Amino acid sequence: MKSWKKGIAAVLCAVMVMGLAAGCGGSEKSALDQVKEEGVLVWGTNSEFPPFESKNGAGEVVGVDAEIMAKVAEKMGVKLQVEDMDFDSLPAALQSGKIDVIGAGYTEDEERLKQMDFSTKYFKAKQVVVVRKGDTSIKSKDDLKNKKIGVQVGTTGDIEATEIEGAEVSRNASMLLACQDLKNGQVDAVIADSETMKYILQNMGEDIEVVQDIVYDDEYYGLAVKKGESELLDEINAVLQEMIDNGEIDQLLIKYSAQG
Ligand code: GLN
Repeated sequence: MKSWKKGIAAVLCAVMVMGLAAGCGGSEKSALDQVKEEGVLVWGTNSEFPPFESKNGAGEVVGVDAEIMAKVAEKMGVKLQVEDMDFDSLPAALQSGKIDVIGAGYTEDEERLKQMDFSTKYFKAKQVVVVRKGDTSIKSKDDLKNKKIGVQVGTTGDIEATEIEGAEVSRNASMLLACQDLKNGQVDAVIADSETMKYILQNMGEDIEVVQDIVYDDEYYGLAVKKGESELLDEINAVLQEMIDNGEIDQLLIKYSAQG
């Protein structure tokens, strides 16, 4: 190699090494240190997902996730601040540091794992398909082809619906709105999480029902933090494990499923 080429290569290497060092930023604080220093843990959610999160009469976000997050903050000795936003805004908010943790009945999946880290799983869910009562035209996954399907935007139900051949997907801000579209005949089916759907059916389900023969794989909820924030995740996991082991999560599910 000619010496001037070596020179350029050496300079490039040096620049790259400096860049890497800056990127790793020895001075950057971990999310846990930051939370403790500020005395506030910022929880990002979308409060349209009972029994995990919904608003009570006083406008506070309550539910299973709210109680888990309160415990996490308490253990860390900090205040809990909730940021209630559109469901599909949560990943960007986590990435930018606007929130420290996503707690939103949030399913761990491959795509999300590329962007963030997930805690211990604390709930098993499934997607279900809901149709108008008496509609016998949708009995299998095949029958969903070329249909109008309502979902909550950015959810795992949205991902499933988007994969259906010829389906026209109507993306709503909440599952409740998707169900209203179903009742009004604007969509043929809704794909959404089983537990929230159970809750919706209890409260407004006289004329809509789950198609029993359409079954999707199990999925699991976890809390999500920014990639690499293992200290914060350890704190969260310790609280979750305790709440799973002592049956608190089960109790909370019963408590918040009964409300509504
Ligand atoms: N479990 C679903 C998901 O993670 C829906 C969650 C929600 O609507 N809050 O995409």
